Amino acid sequence: MLARLAEAGLRMTGQRELVVRTIADKLSPFAPEGLVDELRPHGVGRATVYRALERLERLGVLARIHVGASQGYTVCDEGHHHHLVCASCNAVVPIDAGAVEREIQKLASRLQFRVETHMLEFAGECAECVARSG
Ligand SMILES: [Zn+2]
Ligand SMILES: [Zn+2]
Ligand SMILES: [Zn+2]
Repeated sequence: MLARLAEAGLRMTGQRELVVRTIADKLSPFAPEGLVDELRPHGVGRATVYRALERLERLGVLARIHVGASQGYTVCDEGHHHHLVCASCNAVVPIDAGAVEREIQKLASRLQFRVETHMLEFAGECAECVARSG
C-alpha cells in the first residue's frame, strides 16, 4: 500500500504519514471513528483523518464497506473488484464480479439507462465461519 501511494505521488509528511501508516497496518475492516480515537492521542484531529480516508479511497487503496449497520473501510488490492463481507468475523474476501456487471449493463441498456457508477457488496458468512458453525 505504501509503495502504491509513493507511485501515485502522495507526499507523506508528519500527521498524514502517521495516519497512512496506521491504516496500512490494519488487517481487518475498521470504522472511521475507531481510527479517530486511535489517532487522537497522537494529536491528529478528526478532519485530518477523514480527509486522509477520502484521499486514500479516491486513490483506490481503500474501499468503503458496511460492517453490520455502520460504515467501515478495508485496505484494498489493485484493480476493480467487490467484496464479500463476513458478518460473523468481519473477514473481507475480494471478488471479481465482471460477469455480474456485464449482465447489469445489459439490463440497464435495455432500459436506456446510462450507468456511471455502481455499488455491489455481499454480506454473509465466510468459508471458515461456515465450517466452524457446521
Ligand atoms: Zn478490495
Ligand atoms: Zn464493479
Ligand atoms: Zn467469517
